[in-house]
Amino acid sequence: MSVAVVGGGIIGLSIASRLVDNGADVTIFDDGEYGAWNVAAGMLAPGGEAAFETPALVRLMSSSAERWSSFAASLGVDVGYDETGTLSLAVTADDVAVAAREWPSPALRPSRLRELEPALSPRVRAGVHRPADCQVDPRRVVAALRERLGDRIVTKRLSTLDEAGAPTVVVAAGCGTAALTGLPIRPVKGQVLRLRGEPGLLRHVIEATVDGRSVYVVPRADGEIVVGATQEERSDWTVTAGGVHDLLRAAIELVPDLAECTLAETLVGHRPGTPDNAPLLGVLREGVVVAAGHFRNGVLLAPVTADLIADLVLTGTTDPMLDDFAPGRFA
Ligand SMILES: Cc1cc2nc3c(=O)[nH]c(=O)nc-3n(C[C@H](O)[C@H](O)[C@H](O)COP(=O)(O)OP(=O)(O)OC[C@H]3O[C@@H](n4cnc5c(N)ncnc54)[C@H](O)[C@@H]3O)c2cc1C
Repeated sequence: MSVAVVGGGIIGLSIASRLVDNGADVTIFDDGEYGAWNVAAGMLAPGGEAAFETPALVRLMSSSAERWSSFAASLGVDVGYDETGTLSLAVTADDVAVAAREWPSPALRPSRLRELEPALSPRVRAGVHRPADCQVDPRRVVAALRERLGDRIVTKRLSTLDEAGAPTVVVAAGCGTAALTGLPIRPVKGQVLRLRGEPGLLRHVIEATVDGRSVYVVPRADGEIVVGATQEERSDWTVTAGGVHDLLRAAIELVPDLAECTLAETLVGHRPGTPDNAPLLGVLREGVVVAAGHFRNGVLLAPVTADLIADLVLTGTTDPMLDDFAPGRFA
């Protein structure tokens, strides 16, 4: 079976890899630009993000989280998959009131939190441990998938789907999907920082409310620490002084030793958002399948998207888990 995948980000490559595993003849068209995967922190957080999402999306996220361990192992190299878990924290009494609405268990005392994470500031007032909320390094995942797929990847920006020249086309071009299909996907800007510190400074992913602002701090084993992210309804690429200031101030408030780290990168990425901020997954028209609009959760959702979209392409059957995510639902 001959399939073209448009978009060589984390979603397109994951689908392509699954199709190749099942014997399909796959060509991936990617424009060579960095997608949202290059900026993403790689939090795999069905718990953290679940509270206010729709039940169908929560099911999809949970199913994908369960697949991550074997998906990471299947890549055959270290992609930074880490199951230490996440600490959800709050600093002021107001922060506790807001954050605790999403906490699945009673708050831990500050002394217990500092046993788990000794570098935390004494200002941290309360929090919970979410052992199921893991992390992975999206840059390593994309590099591993590119290595596997090799010369099946063609560097070319498509303007129309006809240019793909295949009987079946999977459109997985993130924010670029809108121009190719007319589907309502909008870029939602996020500013992110990458720090460099001593490996082991932090053990857990931390997500927190600090003086009313949300921030996360994601430590990698090699000493890289991702601090994110702003969420702005705009599409420009400007790193702003205010954005960097807010992120650093909140992160250092949580973990004072972060002030000693090197500020290695300041980045902007765009989350592919949809009108209900749930992904578009399924048949758009004959010969065209869409897998896009994963918004804040594309890294988390990569394994389940790959499995279910590859099955759809190869067998023509739509898994019931996809029923709520039909790409034409806003028409
Ligand atoms: C600041 C930030 C933090 C995030 N943190 C997390 C997180 O912690 N956990 C999580 O699960 N998700 C996170 N995300 C979301 C996640 O990054 C996205 O949902 C995910 O990357 C979407 O994957 P994708 O492959 O659909 O799109 P992308 O990763 O954007 O890749 C799309 C690819 O298609 C290419 N392309 C576009 N148009 C064309 C065209 N016409 N022809 C050829 N190629 C084309 C692009 O250049 C790109 O390479 C974050 C996103 C941002 C911006």
